[in-house]
Amino acid sequence: MAPQKNHYNASIYKEPGPKLSTETPFESMMERFRFAADVLELDEGMFQYLSSPVKQIIVSIPIIMDDGRIEVFEGYRVIHDNVLGPSKGGIRYAPDVNLDEVKALASWMTWKCAVVNVPFGGAKGGVRCDPNKLSKTELERITRRYTANMLDIFGPDKDIPAPDMNTNEQIMAWVMDTYSMNAQRTETAVVTGKPIILGGSQGRKEATGRGVVTVTLAGLNKLGMMPNNVTVAVQGFGNVGSVSANLMYEQGAKIIAISDVTGGYYNENGIDIPEAIRYSKENNNLLKDFPGAELISNNELLELECDVLIPAAKEDQINRSNAGNIQAKIISEGANGPVTANADAVLEEKGIMVIPDILANAGGVTVSYFEWVQDRQGYFWTEERVNRRLNRMMRNAFDNVYGVSEEFRITLRQAAYVYAIDKVATTLEMRGIYA
Ligand code: GLU
Repeated sequence: MAPQKNHYNASIYKEPGPKLSTETPFESMMERFRFAADVLELDEGMFQYLSSPVKQIIVSIPIIMDDGRIEVFEGYRVIHDNVLGPSKGGIRYAPDVNLDEVKALASWMTWKCAVVNVPFGGAKGGVRCDPNKLSKTELERITRRYTANMLDIFGPDKDIPAPDMNTNEQIMAWVMDTYSMNAQRTETAVVTGKPIILGGSQGRKEATGRGVVTVTLAGLNKLGMMPNNVTVAVQGFGNVGSVSANLMYEQGAKIIAISDVTGGYYNENGIDIPEAIRYSKENNNLLKDFPGAELISNNELLELECDVLIPAAKEDQINRSNAGNIQAKIISEGANGPVTANADAVLEEKGIMVIPDILANAGGVTVSYFEWVQDRQGYFWTEERVNRRLNRMMRNAFDNVYGVSEEFRITLRQAAYVYAIDKVATTLEMRGIYA
């Protein structure tokens, strides 16, 4: 789909505002948003509307722990926007989740859905807890109580959660079951990223990594590089990192470094990725002591000489302090917000192509959309069909964003925001403001 262009006005193009001295993920998002709003000459009211989340919910989640104690966790759900459709976005479990982070992640979901043209708004949820210290039954109780607190918020036509950092298909199954028990009917479309047996989609688990690779290949092509002739470093070996590494490996790329919480693993001759995946599975999902590679730090991995760098761990990994040392030619953002706004200009100056998160990792929500469609139709697609459509949508999104970046001579990140904000703003104008 071509961009609406209704808000583009190249002649009034302005320089972005001054850089922020301190950055939270939300400020990083706002910095990019402000730049795109300037390019689009968004009026002040529209700017305010699109930078204010629709709802921000904080709940207490009291749980009886396995030892009989009561412990109270804090949970969040932020609906940033529902102009394009029901809001969509994952739930993350982590000890440092906070409202600011969830707010940033929710707004990134809005722009991400708009970039790939799926009819959803943006949301995100989180529970402040350390999943490594919780038993399976404690995790289940947290998930069910969190969902119970959100019964008025969630719904297949309202707000649809999905997995994110430290949450998985089992947790989505509990969300679906809790919602369904209360609704007194089985409502599979209330959540995506479910096990296939419960109405999940073929290909959903691999979708984010597959999308990362689709746009990385498109980026390499623009630079005249062949995938079987490049070196790749991947930060993070969870769902996104491991699938991205494996698919790049299948393309013939040499994966010289991978990493997880136990450190970075480097081998200049290339790492056998299927072997690393097997090793990690057998070792509690950790690469600790992975043989055939030298131990390096996560920061050293980011600064390695390589062609493609895929940060697929968490926010703020490439920032003002290390951006100047990055040597990759392409950064493909598997994680949400791995590069801070302060680092953008440094990377641009170095001529590094950054394929931004709201484009690069949108494969997950794209197949979530397919899952939601399949659940509502009660008709399920083959994996081949899912992957074919995913590749097409990611490729179109890359081409759209690339086109905007060429037209306005701006970076791919700026172009992705311009494309997305223009789409949401145009839709909002047509819908009007209800009063
Ligand atoms: N958590 C994923 C993301 O950040 C997927 C969201 C979804 O599928 O709704 O894109």
